[in-house]
Amino acid sequence: MSHVFPRHCHADLPTAVAGAGCYLIDRDGRRYFDGSGGAAVSCLGHGDPAITEAIKDQLDKLAFAHTGFFTSEPAEALADLLIAHAPLGIDRVYFTSGGSEATEAAIKLARQYFVERGQPQRRHLIARRQSYHGNTLGALAAGGNEWRRAQFGPLLIEVSHIAPCYEYRERREGESPEAYGLRAAQELEDEILRLGPDTVMAFIAEPVVGATAGAVPAVAGYFRRIREICDRHGVLLILDEVMCGMGRTGHLFACEHDGISPDILCIAKGLGAGYQPIGAMLCSGQIYDTIAGGSGFFQHGHTYIGHPVATAAGLAVVGAILERELIPRVQRLGAQLDAALHGRFAQHPHVGDIRGRGLFRGIELVADRETRAPLDPALKTAAKLKAAAFEAGLICYPMAGTIDGRRGDHILLAPPFVMDDSQISEITDRLATAMEAVLGPQAARAPA
Ligand code: PMP
Repeated sequence: MSHVFPRHCHADLPTAVAGAGCYLIDRDGRRYFDGSGGAAVSCLGHGDPAITEAIKDQLDKLAFAHTGFFTSEPAEALADLLIAHAPLGIDRVYFTSGGSEATEAAIKLARQYFVERGQPQRRHLIARRQSYHGNTLGALAAGGNEWRRAQFGPLLIEVSHIAPCYEYRERREGESPEAYGLRAAQELEDEILRLGPDTVMAFIAEPVVGATAGAVPAVAGYFRRIREICDRHGVLLILDEVMCGMGRTGHLFACEHDGISPDILCIAKGLGAGYQPIGAMLCSGQIYDTIAGGSGFFQHGHTYIGHPVATAAGLAVVGAILERELIPRVQRLGAQLDAALHGRFAQHPHVGDIRGRGLFRGIELVADRETRAPLDPALKTAAKLKAAAFEAGLICYPMAGTIDGRRGDHILLAPPFVMDDSQISEITDRLATAMEAVLGPQAARAPA
């Protein structure tokens, strides 16, 4: 009997023993194409010798030095590299061990910033209903994913949730995408005015929504208007790029696509690419200077922040993304994957929407394409698809997200950037097999 406490207590999971390129291999020798990079983590695939070498080198030199006493060479170098490529105004990097720690730190930094500026009444956070920002209590309070929050309320911090920018479900008939984006963004201003602008500290959002809805990008213009609204009311903009950052969408930082800079930016998953647990919170020079010129101390920290081995891995990963020119590759392969998914599944009676950016793609499943009615949650379609895809040798990330009380089924694909063109059909073929097994034979027909 295993003594591991698994998330799903009754799941009978295979034991992974090896990783090679885009594949994970279990103890029985079965190979799985890592079509979602776990949860959008493994952007370089598995067993990349350059990354494991960098980790071994660092271990040989220095495994750990507490940040209360020392900084370290890899942490300094990784921070420099990130800032050299970061959106305008972003100037400092605070390392964490993962995504929840990064968003938690972002919320605390926003709060401390206003306390230090003599505006302690600014303590309200605004987030979106369709969002996930992590599982620690502060990050969970920020997220709008009802089923993840349900058992833990009342949550710790004051958060209000506005509508997401979710074109497939929220854009009205006859409304242009631009008009819809402005209408969706206006909800933020309305909420700020309702609460009183001098009580709001920050707005947090994912540029491309990942785990709650399967790769939903905002429409053009939405985030520019959000930026304007935040500026108008002195509210900080926190972007959570834990899932969509680090090249995943075809830009090193997803917000480049939207043409805006946040005040605080959170990254994780692709930063360590699964080789080490690492995340980071990046912030503007203005926020840093406020703390530096005030108490001089960010009232936050964990034992393993800026871990030398984790930052050495991050340095090697970001170096590889840039030096191997993987971002243009993500753009090219992403367009091909999108075309292949449309070609294969766009006419399927249970496929409502296929969307995303770069190698971050989502499929939304519906009961009825005309009415866009979600599938009955009791059917557990996303979970069944995950299982059927796994059986067919494909790892894809299933999501039964909740938005405004409706549960929708989605599949998220986030394959390694190092995949090649021929592997696109491996994803679509295996997914088609899974779709046929769960939803009926219509799915499996390749286009004539
Ligand atoms: N934010 C987003 C957008 C995420 O997708 C996730 C993880 N799925 C997190 C935060 C939390 O990251 P972690 O699981 O590394 O704590």
